[in-house]
Amino acid sequence: MDKNVRICIVGGGPAGLSAGMYLEKKGYENYTILERLDRVGGKCWSPTYNGRRYEMGAIMGVPSYYAVHDVEEFCGITHDGPQLNRNYKNKEGKVIEPFNPKKLSNLLKLPRLAKMKKQVKKLGEILETKYKGYDVNGHRGVSEGRYDGFSQANAKREPVKGENPNLKDLCLPFNEFCKLNGVELTQDIWIGPYTSFGYGYFDEIPAAYVLKYLDFQTTMNFVKVNLWTWKNGTQYIWEQLNDHLKHPARLNSKIEKVERKDGKVFVTVNGKVEEYDKIIVTAPLYIPNKRADGQVGMVDYFDAREDEKELFSKIDYERYDVLAVETKPEDHPEISYYVFENMEKERLGHLMVYYRRWKDTKDQVITTYALRKHKDTKEIPYDECKKMVLEDLKIMKNPASNVVNEWSVYYFPHVFSKDYAAGWYEKVEAMQDKYDTFYAGEIMSFGDMDETAEYSRELVERFF
Ligand SMILES: Cc1cc2nc3c(=O)[nH]c(=O)nc-3n(C[C@H](O)[C@H](O)[C@H](O)COP(=O)(O)OP(=O)(O)OC[C@H]3O[C@@H](n4cnc5c(N)ncnc54)[C@H](O)[C@@H]3O)c2cc1C
Repeated sequence: MDKNVRICIVGGGPAGLSAGMYLEKKGYENYTILERLDRVGGKCWSPTYNGRRYEMGAIMGVPSYYAVHDVEEFCGITHDGPQLNRNYKNKEGKVIEPFNPKKLSNLLKLPRLAKMKKQVKKLGEILETKYKGYDVNGHRGVSEGRYDGFSQANAKREPVKGENPNLKDLCLPFNEFCKLNGVELTQDIWIGPYTSFGYGYFDEIPAAYVLKYLDFQTTMNFVKVNLWTWKNGTQYIWEQLNDHLKHPARLNSKIEKVERKDGKVFVTVNGKVEEYDKIIVTAPLYIPNKRADGQVGMVDYFDAREDEKELFSKIDYERYDVLAVETKPEDHPEISYYVFENMEKERLGHLMVYYRRWKDTKDQVITTYALRKHKDTKEIPYDECKKMVLEDLKIMKNPASNVVNEWSVYYFPHVFSKDYAAGWYEKVEAMQDKYDTFYAGEIMSFGDMDETAEYSRELVERFF
């Protein structure tokens, strides 16, 4: 493509900013990033409390976050945050150690624990053999039994391509995928960094999402708490990137209209029409219902074509709620806690995990996380869920004295198994550049910092 091509990037989150970085690295400098808010980072939002930054959005990474590492190198920063520590509680607030075979209370569970260990090993093996190619970034070819992308096995990220009919199994919900392979008990391990991180329930989410994010290596990093954090928050990564780009994001950009005609893209932003040649959308493509925060989908302000409307209307997302609360010093938790029993869909709306970020002080907030929608159930109203979470904190014996920050996130856009298996991703990938438009961001890969940044890298690699 002509290096002077005028590119508009919608969204100044990890996907949009890294698209700018990778374009720039490849010699494309004629890009403009439009961000609707007065800050960059998107779901990496790290406000300040008592002089320190805490996380309302993304919290951590793992050593295989290669694209995030590219950003760190580009900006000369590193993951210098506090080490995370966690334990487990049951729903009555009692500390438990569900995976410790030496614990007397686990005596009856020993056969299950031994079986689980074997199944984890088996899953690790079949992912490398039967499901070879499962962990490339993005979803191209999966529903057709192919893999086509860039290997995530190491930082080189070499292009890989091949046929593997078994990959079609990844269209199944994760619980069915596990059953098919006789590894049901592995869900006990995978659920911690999956459901409590807001990515939905194993009976509704296709295995492809679960395993592309929680590939074997990443899951083991979570198990060993081999994690990256950032002292100034994950938002700092993207603030730094924004500062290092030749063209930092234009904040407070309200896009009123996008028209694509005669090989040009006309973007009406803050009342003025701007002309581009290509547009990369990293903002939500579709939002099923009106949201209180005013966010809308791309189909609402673009001259969306029938194929875009039809395909994007299949997208659903998670209602993931985060509270930042103060506690009295004597009520502050010693560390972070996971509540596995609250990660069942029957306990929708309950507290699944809560974080203490700073070990050395109690004058900081703790953050709580809950989901309030499952595919088959009615959405729990926001205030009801908040009440449940605050009640749960009391049960956990870490009651909140005050809520200082809160948000309900447009989180983890995805499609369900039927549409995934019917080739949703193949159809959308085939539409890349059809209307001088590229689709990137969470829906095209997975809702975490690295997968979205990595997808932007690949998009630039493939099309520019
Ligand atoms: C509570 C929580 C915990 C998380 N934990 C982790 C974690 O530990 N590790 C991890 O890797 N990830 C985590 N994530 C996920 C991670 O933050 C996201 O996957 C990542 O930020 C996605 O990047 P993105 O650029 O695709 O989208 P976003 O971050 O959503 O950025 C999109 C940007 O587009 C802007 N935008 C939207 N509409 C428009 C419009 N019409 N015009 C212009 N701009 C627009 C938005 O304001 C936003 O800045 C977490 C997220 C949350 C909310």
